[in-house]
Amino acid sequence: MTSDILDQQAFPTLKVTQIALLRPFGDTRAIAAGDVLIEAGEPVPGLFVILEGRTASVDRANDDQVIRTSGPGEFNGELGVLTGQRALVACIAQTDGTALFVPSAAVAEIIATIPELSDILVTAFAARRQLLMQAVLATITIIGPEGDHDVLALLEFADRNRIPYRWLDPGNPDDSASIASCGAPEGPVFRVVLGKHFVLDHPTPQRLARAIGLDLDLPEGSVADVIVVGAGPAGLAAAVYGASEGLATIVVENSAIGGQAGMSSRIENYVGFPTGISGGDLAFRAEVQALKFGARLTVPRSAGALEKRPEGFAVVLDEGGVLLGRSIVIATGARYRKLALPEQDKYAGAIYHAATDLEARRCRGKEVIVIGGANSAGQAAMFLSGYAAHVRLLCRSASLGIKMSHYLIDRLEHTANVEICLDTEATALHGKDALESVTIANRRTDESREVPAHGLFVMIGATPCTGWLTGAVDLDDKGFVRTGQRNGPADSPFHASVPGVFAVGDVRSNSVKRVASAVGEGSVVIQAVYRHLATLHDAADASDAGSEKS
Ligand SMILES: Cc1cc2nc3c(=O)[nH]c(=O)nc-3n(C[C@H](O)[C@H](O)[C@H](O)COP(=O)(O)OP(=O)(O)OC[C@H]3O[C@@H](n4cnc5c(N)ncnc54)[C@H](O)[C@@H]3O)c2cc1C
Repeated sequence: MTSDILDQQAFPTLKVTQIALLRPFGDTRAIAAGDVLIEAGEPVPGLFVILEGRTASVDRANDDQVIRTSGPGEFNGELGVLTGQRALVACIAQTDGTALFVPSAAVAEIIATIPELSDILVTAFAARRQLLMQAVLATITIIGPEGDHDVLALLEFADRNRIPYRWLDPGNPDDSASIASCGAPEGPVFRVVLGKHFVLDHPTPQRLARAIGLDLDLPEGSVADVIVVGAGPAGLAAAVYGASEGLATIVVENSAIGGQAGMSSRIENYVGFPTGISGGDLAFRAEVQALKFGARLTVPRSAGALEKRPEGFAVVLDEGGVLLGRSIVIATGARYRKLALPEQDKYAGAIYHAATDLEARRCRGKEVIVIGGANSAGQAAMFLSGYAAHVRLLCRSASLGIKMSHYLIDRLEHTANVEICLDTEATALHGKDALESVTIANRRTDESREVPAHGLFVMIGATPCTGWLTGAVDLDDKGFVRTGQRNGPADSPFHASVPGVFAVGDVRSNSVKRVASAVGEGSVVIQAVYRHLATLHDAADASDAGSEKS
């Protein structure tokens, strides 16, 4: 989408009739020049609709640079109104005037009940986040040396969760002045700065998430109608349908919203996107849609165990704490497999399991190897061919046609800087400090050769994320969740072996490992969840009636 269109979507002017619809939800306030209405790094209190005067959106990280000014009919506020995240942009009154203030809780109600305003607000919040991502403005500043594993993990977390950030490398002289202006000491420091004052030293993704409010304060003791574990395509679809059907829906994600699909630079076979869509964009759209309907998402939180409780179920979190739900949708998908090469830990900074802009930028102009024979490997090779000098695609089998779509094979074969090496595997990694070359061996001819490689993309399949379910539900011999065995009112192809527990997407035994099928399963499973909840209500009513009689 062009910036002009995004700009129009991000900064609409409300009509008088639309402001009138908002008035019962807020109060009119006088504002004075210099008043800080929203502060970067603080929770977003709500919307400020300007009635008279002007306000400025200010980038605290860049010497209070004014990003934009707003006048009558425009509103200030961002996605944090819906997610509970802290503000990334400060909003300051430039002149005296008046504003209609609508608190965040009321915004959620407006979005749920007034479609005309819901469309405008949700579109604006999503577009504002996209503009921030593009402009690298008003962002979190991550300071940390290139090649540091912890820094890379944090950059990845921010990228995949759509947290706008700028990255400053203490080893890069061009960044020195900016680092100094953030107040960071000299040397290989690793810290995060948000706004002017908010500093985290040696941040982990968990600490960053907690600090910016991405990791929701979950209500202790309350029982959700459905807890969706995993926010890949299947979990996000379940969240959208669950919340839109009025179910109290909580989504728990341990890594990044979007799951495996979020690691794909371009999904070309998802219906409705003839030119393809990046997994990150698809995930962001689904996330905003789920938030719009009132689903609550928390990341990064890891489900460590599933237990039966009188209220229904408890999802025990690895980080501590328990979530209670009347039903569970397991959507934890699968995790990439690692190579069986002992030296891979030494070169961990050059071994990737995703091919998005983040990885591609690191491989610009270099030689890279992609390992794998399925669509994920083919897409990665195609995508990287636009950045890397040369891409070798290693496939252990004698043909790509077994697991890869035909259109991809055609493209790879017609791309000049892609070399397809069939019957071939990587047998050793080399390099003094960083990865420099890889020994590749032809399994048919037994010939080996060492080829230059500065990045290794390993896409050799995945194993199910079901360790947290051991003993809780039936798994098949490969660890995928068995479904469809139950009879009863909530019978469904997605029912696991325990009533009230369902599984969808890649984690389900015998599922089709595709985005569309994961989305389809996540959408339709909600009908069965609904029926299960209805049986609980019926049982509760029958028990109440029984106790009234006795
Ligand atoms: C690089 C790549 C490219 C691909 N390209 C395509 C394509 O072009 N077309 C296509 O149709 N398919 C493609 N696929 C496959 C597709 O992405 C998957 O089939 C799809 O993402 C499965 O969705 P899912 O929601 O079932 O699981 P996943 O996407 O695996 O999501 C599961 C989520 O659960 C989370 N999770 C796991 N364990 C826990 C836990 N204990 N607690 C909390 N959260 C947990 C994970 O972090 C993850 O976010 C691709 C896959 C990859 C890796």
